[in-house]
Amino acid sequence: MGVRASTRAGALVSPGRRPLIAGNWKMYRGGAAGCELADAVRRAVAPGARAEVVVAPPFTALAAVAETVRGATIGVAGQSLHPGTEGAFTGEVSGPMLVECGATWVIVGHSERRQLFGETDANVQAKVAAAAACELVPIACVGETLAEREAGRTLEVVSRQLAAILAADRAGVSLVVAYEPVWAIGTGRVAGPDQAEEVHAALRVQLERHDPALAAATRILYGGSVKPENAAGLLACPNVDGALVGGASLDAAAFAAIVAAAEPG
Ligand code: PEP
Repeated sequence: MGVRASTRAGALVSPGRRPLIAGNWKMYRGGAAGCELADAVRRAVAPGARAEVVVAPPFTALAAVAETVRGATIGVAGQSLHPGTEGAFTGEVSGPMLVECGATWVIVGHSERRQLFGETDANVQAKVAAAAACELVPIACVGETLAEREAGRTLEVVSRQLAAILAADRAGVSLVVAYEPVWAIGTGRVAGPDQAEEVHAALRVQLERHDPALAAATRILYGGSVKPENAAGLLACPNVDGALVGGASLDAAAFAAIVAAAEPG
């Protein structure tokens, strides 16, 4: 798809990839406050924005948020899913249940799920397949810890995580990859554009080796303390196709400013 050009790291970039800005609300704004935030985002994001916009509220607010943004060009994502469709899995939510609530996207393998809830690469792989099976687009996260970066293992770690994601049967459903260095999430410590681009370019090469068409089409988002002040620099990188935004997505004006940073300069 689209015209492709070489980057300095040798990966292939398609100018045809539309930027994607996704807001991960985590365990905030679960009820009426979620609808208020969704409504504020709907009003704050300029109609006709270049970037595609997605919000990921807590499960309890999904259906109401989907209703609030109905008719606006804002997609709704779950923050995780169980790999099964139904069963005796207390506390879990399945892909078809997310779809029923109006979600068309789902975040998979967020580092908080991996670190705090013990999700493994195998779990993430099963979840990517489960998402695709009900036509939810997975936003699949990869990223190294500070110790892994300091040990020079960043590319090894993200490549292992991406390999597991790519091994999932997606049945033709598209994929979004989010590079989220764990040391940058919620810490205010953001990867510089060069640090982000280095990893994104490596992920693009890995995608290219797996499937050139997938590499050209797949958006690779950066996540980790993205704010209005640093978004434009990150989004200008050739292999950064958008952002997964945590803290700043809870403020409609800040989130809209990040969406605006994806407009052509
Ligand atoms: C996230 O939770 O995916 C995230 C990137 O958080 P923050 O923007 O707050 O670092």
